[in-house]
Amino acid sequence: MKSLAVMGSTGSIGCQTLDLVRQDPGTFTVTVLAAHSNIERLLEQVQEFHPLVVGVYDELAAKELRSQVDASVAVVTGEELVDAVTAAEIVINGVMGFAGIRITERALRAGLRLGLANKESLIAAGDLVLALLSMGGELIPVDSEHSAIFQAMGQSRQVPAGFARLVITASGGPFRQLPAQSLRTVTIEDALAHPTWSMGPKISVDSSTLFNKGLEVIEAHYLFGVAYDAISVVVHPESLVHSMVEFTDGSTLAQLSMPDMRLPISLALYSPLRSDLAHGALDWSRPMTLTFEEVDRIRFPALALAYEAGRLGGGAPCWMNAANEVAVEAFLNSSIGWLQIYEVVARTMESYEVGSPMSIDEVVELDRQARVVATEMVQVLASA
Ligand code: NDP
Ligand code: MG
Repeated sequence: MKSLAVMGSTGSIGCQTLDLVRQDPGTFTVTVLAAHSNIERLLEQVQEFHPLVVGVYDELAAKELRSQVDASVAVVTGEELVDAVTAAEIVINGVMGFAGIRITERALRAGLRLGLANKESLIAAGDLVLALLSMGGELIPVDSEHSAIFQAMGQSRQVPAGFARLVITASGGPFRQLPAQSLRTVTIEDALAHPTWSMGPKISVDSSTLFNKGLEVIEAHYLFGVAYDAISVVVHPESLVHSMVEFTDGSTLAQLSMPDMRLPISLALYSPLRSDLAHGALDWSRPMTLTFEEVDRIRFPALALAYEAGRLGGGAPCWMNAANEVAVEAFLNSSIGWLQIYEVVARTMESYEVGSPMSIDEVVELDRQARVVATEMVQVLASA
Protein backbone atom coordinates (compact mmCIF):
# COMPACT_ATOMS: atom_id res chain seq x y z
CA MET A 1 0.00 0.00 0.00
CA LYS A 2 1.29 3.43 -0.93
CA SER A 3 0.40 6.24 1.47
CA LEU A 4 -0.93 9.49 0.05
CA ALA A 5 -1.18 13.08 1.23
CA VAL A 6 -3.93 14.82 -0.71
CA MET A 7 -3.36 18.54 -0.21
CA GLY A 8 -6.30 20.60 -1.38
CA SER A 9 -8.48 17.51 -1.02
CA THR A 10 -11.78 19.40 -1.21
CA GLY A 11 -10.99 20.99 -4.59
CA SER A 12 -11.26 19.79 -8.15
CA ILE A 13 -7.83 18.06 -8.24
CA GLY A 14 -8.20 16.77 -4.67
CA CYS A 15 -11.61 15.18 -5.25
CA GLN A 16 -10.46 13.55 -8.49
CA THR A 17 -7.39 12.16 -6.68
CA LEU A 18 -9.65 10.64 -4.04
CA ASP A 19 -11.83 9.20 -6.78
CA LEU A 20 -8.79 7.28 -8.07
CA VAL A 21 -8.09 5.97 -4.56
CA ARG A 22 -11.73 4.93 -4.28
CA GLN A 23 -11.36 2.92 -7.48
CA ASP A 24 -8.20 1.14 -6.33
CA PRO A 25 -8.46 0.87 -2.54
CA GLY A 26 -6.01 -2.04 -2.32
CA THR A 27 -3.14 0.05 -3.70
CA PHE A 28 -3.40 3.37 -1.87
CA THR A 29 -4.15 4.52 1.61
CA VAL A 30 -4.84 8.18 2.40
CA THR A 31 -2.85 9.26 5.44
CA VAL A 32 -3.23 13.04 5.06
CA LEU A 33 -6.02 15.29 3.85
CA ALA A 34 -5.81 19.08 3.82
CA ALA A 35 -7.92 22.03 2.74
CA HIS A 36 -8.44 25.68 3.45
CA SER A 37 -11.78 25.79 5.30
CA ASN A 38 -14.39 23.53 3.69
CA ILE A 39 -14.88 21.32 6.73
CA GLU A 40 -18.18 19.87 5.55
CA ARG A 41 -16.48 18.15 2.65
CA LEU A 42 -13.41 17.34 4.74
CA LEU A 43 -15.60 15.60 7.28
CA GLU A 44 -17.14 13.41 4.59
CA GLN A 45 -13.65 12.59 3.32
CA VAL A 46 -12.40 11.77 6.83
CA GLN A 47 -15.30 9.38 7.29
CA GLU A 48 -14.60 7.66 3.99
CA PHE A 49 -10.77 7.56 3.93
CA HIS A 50 -9.78 7.50 7.63
CA PRO A 51 -6.61 9.63 7.40
CA LEU A 52 -4.19 9.95 10.33
CA VAL A 53 -3.87 13.73 9.90
CA VAL A 54 -6.18 16.41 8.57
CA GLY A 55 -4.80 19.87 7.85
CA VAL A 56 -7.09 22.90 7.87
CA TYR A 57 -5.60 26.27 6.94
CA ASP A 58 -8.27 28.34 8.66
CA GLU A 59 -7.82 28.05 12.42
CA LEU A 60 -11.47 28.54 13.32
CA ALA A 61 -12.48 25.87 10.85
CA ALA A 62 -9.79 23.59 12.31
CA LYS A 63 -11.25 24.04 15.77
CA GLU A 64 -14.71 23.26 14.48
CA LEU A 65 -13.52 20.13 12.68
CA ARG A 66 -11.59 18.96 15.75
CA SER A 67 -14.84 18.90 17.70
CA GLN A 68 -16.45 16.70 15.05
CA VAL A 69 -13.86 13.98 14.38
CA ASP A 70 -12.64 11.06 16.41
CA ALA A 71 -9.76 11.92 18.78
CA SER A 72 -7.53 9.48 16.88
CA VAL A 73 -7.48 11.88 13.89
CA ALA A 74 -5.00 14.73 14.34
CA VAL A 75 -6.43 18.03 13.09
CA VAL A 76 -3.56 20.41 12.45
CA THR A 77 -3.06 23.90 11.12
CA GLY A 78 -0.19 26.31 10.33
CA GLU A 79 3.26 24.77 10.03
CA GLU A 80 1.96 21.40 11.20
CA LEU A 81 -0.30 21.32 8.14
CA VAL A 82 2.77 21.61 5.93
CA ASP A 83 4.77 19.08 7.98
CA ALA A 84 1.87 16.64 7.71
CA VAL A 85 2.99 15.69 4.19
CA THR A 86 5.85 13.71 5.69
CA ALA A 87 3.31 11.13 6.89
CA ALA A 88 2.94 9.98 3.27
CA GLU A 89 5.04 8.56 0.44
CA ILE A 90 3.25 10.43 -2.34
CA VAL A 91 2.06 14.02 -2.04
CA ILE A 92 -0.52 15.42 -4.45
CA ASN A 93 -0.32 19.20 -4.27
CA GLY A 94 -3.76 20.34 -5.43
CA VAL A 95 -3.80 23.50 -3.35
CA MET A 96 -4.92 26.60 -5.21
CA GLY A 97 -2.33 29.30 -5.84
CA PHE A 98 0.92 30.42 -4.24
CA ALA A 99 -0.27 29.09 -0.86
CA GLY A 100 0.90 25.68 -2.11
CA ILE A 101 4.56 26.67 -2.05
CA ARG A 102 5.38 25.38 1.43
CA ILE A 103 3.84 22.02 0.55
CA THR A 104 5.98 21.73 -2.59
CA GLU A 105 9.04 22.69 -0.54
CA ARG A 106 8.32 20.31 2.34
CA ALA A 107 7.55 17.34 0.10
CA LEU A 108 10.80 17.74 -1.83
CA ARG A 109 12.88 18.38 1.29
CA ALA A 110 11.52 15.11 2.66
CA GLY A 111 12.56 13.34 -0.56
CA LEU A 112 9.00 12.33 -1.42
CA ARG A 113 7.23 11.89 -4.73
CA LEU A 114 5.37 15.10 -5.50
CA GLY A 115 2.48 15.05 -7.95
CA LEU A 116 2.37 18.73 -8.80
CA ALA A 117 -0.90 20.30 -9.89
CA ASN A 118 -0.06 23.50 -7.99
CA LYS A 119 1.84 25.12 -10.86
CA GLU A 120 2.05 28.46 -9.01
CA SER A 121 4.69 27.12 -6.60
CA LEU A 122 6.97 26.00 -9.44
CA ILE A 123 6.46 29.23 -11.37
CA ALA A 124 7.21 31.42 -8.36
CA ALA A 125 10.28 29.51 -7.23
CA GLY A 126 11.42 27.52 -10.27
CA ASP A 127 15.18 27.46 -9.71
CA LEU A 128 14.81 26.81 -5.98
CA VAL A 129 12.31 23.99 -6.52
CA LEU A 130 14.72 22.37 -8.98
CA ALA A 131 17.52 22.71 -6.44
CA LEU A 132 15.33 21.04 -3.80
CA LEU A 133 14.88 18.10 -6.15
CA SER A 134 18.51 17.23 -5.60
CA MET A 135 17.48 16.11 -2.09
CA GLY A 136 16.13 12.88 -3.55
CA GLY A 137 12.51 13.78 -4.19
CA GLU A 138 10.65 13.20 -7.41
CA LEU A 139 8.48 15.64 -9.34
CA ILE A 140 5.69 14.32 -11.55
CA PRO A 141 3.67 16.93 -13.42
CA VAL A 142 -0.10 16.73 -13.02
CA ASP A 143 -1.01 19.66 -15.25
CA SER A 144 -2.44 17.91 -18.32
CA GLU A 145 -0.14 19.59 -20.85
CA HIS A 146 2.97 18.76 -18.85
CA SER A 147 1.78 15.24 -18.19
CA ALA A 148 1.31 14.88 -21.95
CA ILE A 149 4.91 16.00 -22.55
CA PHE A 150 6.14 13.76 -19.72
CA GLN A 151 4.36 10.82 -21.36
CA ALA A 152 5.57 11.69 -24.87
CA MET A 153 9.13 11.69 -23.49
CA GLY A 154 8.75 8.18 -22.00
CA GLN A 155 7.71 9.31 -18.50
CA SER A 156 10.79 11.44 -18.17
CA ARG A 157 11.52 15.13 -17.63
CA GLN A 158 14.75 14.82 -19.67
CA VAL A 159 14.34 15.92 -23.27
CA PRO A 160 15.25 13.07 -25.63
CA ALA A 161 17.87 13.03 -28.39
CA GLY A 162 16.80 14.99 -31.45
CA PHE A 163 14.46 17.18 -29.43
CA ALA A 164 13.38 20.34 -31.27
CA ARG A 165 10.56 22.01 -29.34
CA LEU A 166 7.52 21.64 -27.11
CA VAL A 167 4.11 22.52 -28.49
CA ILE A 168 1.67 23.26 -25.67
CA THR A 169 -1.99 23.13 -26.60
CA ALA A 170 -4.60 25.59 -25.31
CA SER A 171 -8.35 25.20 -25.53
CA GLY A 172 -8.55 28.95 -26.10
CA GLY A 173 -10.96 29.32 -23.17
CA PRO A 174 -14.57 30.53 -23.23
CA PHE A 175 -13.75 33.77 -25.12
CA ARG A 176 -11.80 32.25 -28.00
CA GLN A 177 -14.32 33.48 -30.55
CA LEU A 178 -15.60 36.57 -28.76
CA PRO A 179 -15.00 39.86 -30.60
CA ALA A 180 -12.63 42.25 -28.82
CA GLN A 181 -15.35 44.80 -28.04
CA SER A 182 -17.44 42.16 -26.21
CA LEU A 183 -14.59 41.32 -23.81
CA ARG A 184 -15.34 44.55 -21.96
CA THR A 185 -18.63 43.25 -20.64
CA VAL A 186 -17.99 39.58 -19.89
CA THR A 187 -19.26 38.42 -16.51
CA ILE A 188 -17.79 36.18 -13.82
CA GLU A 189 -20.15 33.40 -14.93
CA ASP A 190 -18.97 33.77 -18.53
CA ALA A 191 -15.33 33.53 -17.47
CA LEU A 192 -16.00 30.46 -15.31
CA ALA A 193 -17.77 28.58 -18.11
CA HIS A 194 -14.79 26.70 -19.50
CA PRO A 195 -15.67 24.92 -22.76
CA THR A 196 -13.86 21.61 -22.12
CA TRP A 197 -12.59 21.31 -18.52
CA SER A 198 -14.37 21.55 -15.17
CA MET A 199 -11.92 23.17 -12.73
CA GLY A 200 -11.71 25.45 -9.71
CA PRO A 201 -12.56 29.16 -10.18
CA LYS A 202 -9.01 30.59 -10.18
CA ILE A 203 -7.65 28.38 -12.94
CA SER A 204 -10.90 28.77 -14.91
CA VAL A 205 -10.45 32.55 -14.96
CA ASP A 206 -6.76 32.05 -15.85
CA SER A 207 -7.88 29.92 -18.78
CA SER A 208 -10.18 32.68 -19.99
CA THR A 209 -7.37 35.29 -20.02
CA LEU A 210 -4.75 32.79 -21.24
CA PHE A 211 -2.63 33.63 -18.21
CA ASN A 212 -2.98 29.93 -17.48
CA LYS A 213 -1.20 29.14 -20.74
CA GLY A 214 1.45 31.71 -19.93
CA LEU A 215 1.98 30.14 -16.51
CA GLU A 216 2.19 26.74 -18.22
CA VAL A 217 4.93 27.96 -20.58
CA ILE A 218 7.00 28.97 -17.53
CA GLU A 219 6.08 25.68 -15.83
CA ALA A 220 7.33 23.75 -18.89
CA HIS A 221 10.57 25.75 -18.95
CA TYR A 222 11.39 24.67 -15.40
CA LEU A 223 10.01 21.13 -15.56
CA PHE A 224 11.78 20.11 -18.75
CA GLY A 225 14.70 22.57 -18.85
CA VAL A 226 13.62 23.88 -22.25
CA ALA A 227 14.46 27.43 -23.46
CA TYR A 228 11.50 29.75 -24.08
CA ASP A 229 12.34 29.93 -27.81
CA ALA A 230 11.68 26.20 -27.99
CA ILE A 231 8.22 26.36 -26.37
CA SER A 232 5.26 27.17 -28.62
CA VAL A 233 1.57 27.46 -27.87
CA VAL A 234 -1.17 26.46 -30.28
CA VAL A 235 -4.93 26.72 -29.80
CA HIS A 236 -6.69 23.36 -30.02
CA PRO A 237 -10.35 23.84 -29.05
CA GLU A 238 -11.25 20.13 -28.77
CA SER A 239 -8.77 19.58 -25.88
CA LEU A 240 -7.96 16.05 -27.06
CA VAL A 241 -4.28 16.58 -27.89
CA HIS A 242 -2.87 17.65 -24.55
CA SER A 243 0.56 18.75 -25.88
CA MET A 244 3.31 17.61 -28.21
CA VAL A 245 7.04 17.10 -28.52
CA GLU A 246 8.57 17.92 -31.88
CA PHE A 247 11.86 16.42 -33.09
CA THR A 248 14.57 17.74 -35.42
CA ASP A 249 13.71 15.12 -38.08
CA GLY A 250 10.14 16.44 -38.45
CA SER A 251 8.45 13.87 -36.21
CA THR A 252 5.91 14.96 -33.57
CA LEU A 253 4.81 12.85 -30.61
CA ALA A 254 1.48 13.82 -29.06
CA GLN A 255 -0.59 12.51 -26.16
CA LEU A 256 -4.34 12.22 -26.74
CA SER A 257 -7.23 11.48 -24.41
CA MET A 258 -10.56 13.00 -23.43
CA PRO A 259 -10.20 15.97 -21.06
CA ASP A 260 -10.17 14.03 -17.78
CA MET A 261 -7.68 15.05 -15.08
CA ARG A 262 -7.82 11.61 -13.52
CA LEU A 263 -5.43 10.39 -16.23
CA PRO A 264 -2.58 12.82 -15.41
CA ILE A 265 -3.25 12.42 -11.67
CA SER A 266 -3.07 8.62 -12.06
CA LEU A 267 0.39 8.94 -13.65
CA ALA A 268 1.57 10.78 -10.54
CA LEU A 269 0.28 7.86 -8.47
CA TYR A 270 1.38 4.87 -10.58
CA SER A 271 4.37 6.05 -12.67
CA PRO A 272 6.39 4.38 -14.14
CA LEU A 273 3.49 1.92 -14.31
CA ARG A 274 0.02 2.86 -15.50
CA SER A 275 -3.38 2.37 -13.96
CA ASP A 276 -5.48 -0.58 -15.20
CA LEU A 277 -8.49 1.72 -15.14
CA ALA A 278 -8.93 3.88 -18.23
CA HIS A 279 -9.72 7.55 -17.77
CA GLY A 280 -10.45 9.60 -20.84
CA ALA A 281 -9.88 6.81 -23.39
CA LEU A 282 -10.88 7.89 -26.90
CA ASP A 283 -13.44 6.06 -29.00
CA TRP A 284 -11.61 5.66 -32.32
CA SER A 285 -14.67 4.13 -34.01
CA ARG A 286 -16.36 7.54 -34.05
CA PRO A 287 -15.48 10.48 -36.28
CA MET A 288 -13.17 12.90 -34.56
CA THR A 289 -12.04 16.36 -35.56
CA LEU A 290 -8.80 17.90 -34.40
CA THR A 291 -8.29 21.56 -35.22
CA PHE A 292 -5.40 23.86 -34.47
CA GLU A 293 -5.08 27.62 -34.79
CA GLU A 294 -2.76 30.40 -33.71
CA VAL A 295 -3.28 32.30 -30.47
CA ASP A 296 -4.78 35.74 -31.00
CA ARG A 297 -2.11 37.73 -29.20
CA ILE A 298 -4.03 40.98 -29.51
CA ARG A 299 -7.13 39.86 -27.64
CA PHE A 300 -5.06 37.71 -25.27
CA PRO A 301 -1.92 39.73 -24.43
CA ALA A 302 -1.35 37.72 -21.23
CA LEU A 303 0.59 35.04 -23.08
CA ALA A 304 3.27 37.45 -24.35
CA LEU A 305 3.53 39.04 -20.89
CA ALA A 306 4.19 35.62 -19.36
CA TYR A 307 6.90 34.84 -21.94
CA GLU A 308 8.48 38.17 -21.05
CA ALA A 309 8.40 37.41 -17.31
CA GLY A 310 9.71 33.92 -17.96
CA ARG A 311 12.61 35.22 -20.05
CA LEU A 312 13.45 37.81 -17.38
CA GLY A 313 13.67 34.90 -14.94
CA GLY A 314 14.74 35.42 -11.33
CA GLY A 315 11.85 36.83 -9.33
CA ALA A 316 9.83 37.98 -12.37
CA PRO A 317 7.57 34.90 -12.68
CA CYS A 318 6.86 35.11 -8.92
CA TRP A 319 5.99 38.82 -9.26
CA MET A 320 3.70 38.18 -12.21
CA ASN A 321 2.01 35.21 -10.57
CA ALA A 322 1.27 37.19 -7.41
CA ALA A 323 -0.17 40.10 -9.43
CA ASN A 324 -2.34 37.67 -11.36
CA GLU A 325 -3.66 36.02 -8.19
CA VAL A 326 -4.60 39.42 -6.76
CA ALA A 327 -6.23 40.47 -10.04
CA VAL A 328 -8.22 37.25 -10.42
CA GLU A 329 -9.46 37.51 -6.86
CA ALA A 330 -10.49 41.14 -7.51
CA PHE A 331 -12.33 40.04 -10.65
CA LEU A 332 -14.07 37.20 -8.78
CA ASN A 333 -15.29 39.60 -6.09
CA SER A 334 -16.47 42.08 -8.75
CA SER A 335 -13.95 44.83 -7.91
CA ILE A 336 -12.58 44.94 -11.46
CA GLY A 337 -13.69 43.85 -14.91
CA TRP A 338 -12.22 41.00 -16.93
CA LEU A 339 -10.06 43.25 -19.15
CA GLN A 340 -8.56 44.83 -16.05
CA ILE A 341 -7.06 41.53 -14.92
CA TYR A 342 -4.38 41.93 -17.59
CA GLU A 343 -4.04 45.62 -16.82
CA VAL A 344 -3.37 44.97 -13.13
CA VAL A 345 -0.72 42.39 -13.96
CA ALA A 346 0.96 44.48 -16.68
CA ARG A 347 1.07 47.60 -14.49
CA THR A 348 2.37 45.61 -11.51
CA MET A 349 5.12 44.19 -13.72
CA GLU A 350 6.30 47.74 -14.41
CA SER A 351 7.42 48.06 -10.81
CA TYR A 352 9.26 44.73 -10.74
CA GLU A 353 12.90 45.21 -9.77
CA VAL A 354 15.23 42.64 -11.23
CA GLY A 355 16.59 40.22 -8.67
CA SER A 356 16.71 36.55 -7.80
CA PRO A 357 15.29 35.24 -4.53
CA MET A 358 17.82 32.94 -2.88
CA SER A 359 15.48 31.04 -0.60
CA ILE A 360 11.81 30.09 -0.36
CA ASP A 361 11.48 32.67 2.44
CA GLU A 362 12.68 35.33 -0.01
CA VAL A 363 10.16 34.10 -2.59
CA VAL A 364 7.42 34.40 0.01
CA GLU A 365 8.55 37.97 0.74
CA LEU A 366 8.67 38.84 -2.97
CA ASP A 367 5.17 37.45 -3.42
CA ARG A 368 3.99 39.60 -0.50
CA GLN A 369 5.52 42.76 -1.98
CA ALA A 370 4.01 42.09 -5.40
CA ARG A 371 0.61 41.65 -3.78
CA VAL A 372 0.90 45.06 -2.12
CA VAL A 373 1.64 46.70 -5.49
CA ALA A 374 -1.07 44.73 -7.30
CA THR A 375 -3.64 45.55 -4.62
CA GLU A 376 -2.87 49.27 -5.12
CA MET A 377 -3.37 48.79 -8.87
CA VAL A 378 -6.72 47.13 -8.22
CA GLN A 379 -7.77 50.09 -6.06
CA VAL A 380 -6.69 52.58 -8.72
CA LEU A 381 -8.57 50.75 -11.46
CA ALA A 382 -11.62 50.05 -9.29
CA SER A 383 -12.04 53.75 -8.48
CA ALA A 384 -11.37 54.98 -12.05
P1 NDP B 1 -9.96 24.38 -6.36
O1 NDP B 1 -10.27 25.80 -6.13
O2 NDP B 1 -11.02 23.48 -6.90
O3 NDP B 1 -9.41 23.70 -5.02
C1 NDP B 1 -8.39 24.31 -4.27
C2 NDP B 1 -8.11 23.45 -3.07
O4 NDP B 1 -7.05 24.07 -2.33
C3 NDP B 1 -9.28 23.33 -2.10
O5 NDP B 1 -9.22 22.07 -1.49
C4 NDP B 1 -8.98 24.43 -1.08
O6 NDP B 1 -9.64 24.21 0.18
C5 NDP B 1 -7.48 24.23 -0.97
N1 NDP B 1 -6.73 25.34 -0.40
C6 NDP B 1 -6.75 26.64 -0.76
N2 NDP B 1 -5.88 27.35 -0.02
C7 NDP B 1 -5.30 26.47 0.84
C8 NDP B 1 -4.32 26.58 1.86
N3 NDP B 1 -3.76 27.74 2.16
N4 NDP B 1 -3.95 25.45 2.55
C9 NDP B 1 -4.50 24.25 2.25
N5 NDP B 1 -5.43 24.08 1.28
C10 NDP B 1 -5.82 25.18 0.60
O7 NDP B 1 -8.67 24.35 -7.33
P2 NDP B 1 -8.26 23.27 -8.41
O8 NDP B 1 -8.34 21.90 -7.84
O9 NDP B 1 -8.93 23.57 -9.70
O10 NDP B 1 -6.73 23.66 -8.64
C11 NDP B 1 -5.74 23.35 -7.68
C12 NDP B 1 -4.37 23.53 -8.33
O11 NDP B 1 -4.25 22.63 -9.42
C13 NDP B 1 -4.15 24.93 -8.92
O12 NDP B 1 -2.80 25.27 -8.78
C14 NDP B 1 -4.46 24.74 -10.41
O13 NDP B 1 -3.76 25.64 -11.23
C15 NDP B 1 -3.96 23.31 -10.63
N6 NDP B 1 -4.60 22.63 -11.75
C16 NDP B 1 -5.92 22.31 -11.69
C17 NDP B 1 -6.54 21.66 -12.75
C18 NDP B 1 -7.98 21.25 -12.66
O14 NDP B 1 -8.46 20.54 -13.56
N7 NDP B 1 -8.73 21.64 -11.65
C19 NDP B 1 -5.80 21.34 -13.97
C20 NDP B 1 -4.41 21.69 -13.92
C21 NDP B 1 -3.83 22.31 -12.84
P3 NDP B 1 -11.17 24.75 0.46
O15 NDP B 1 -12.06 23.90 -0.38
O16 NDP B 1 -11.35 24.54 1.91
O17 NDP B 1 -11.19 26.20 0.05
MG1 MG C 1 -3.14 22.77 -17.88
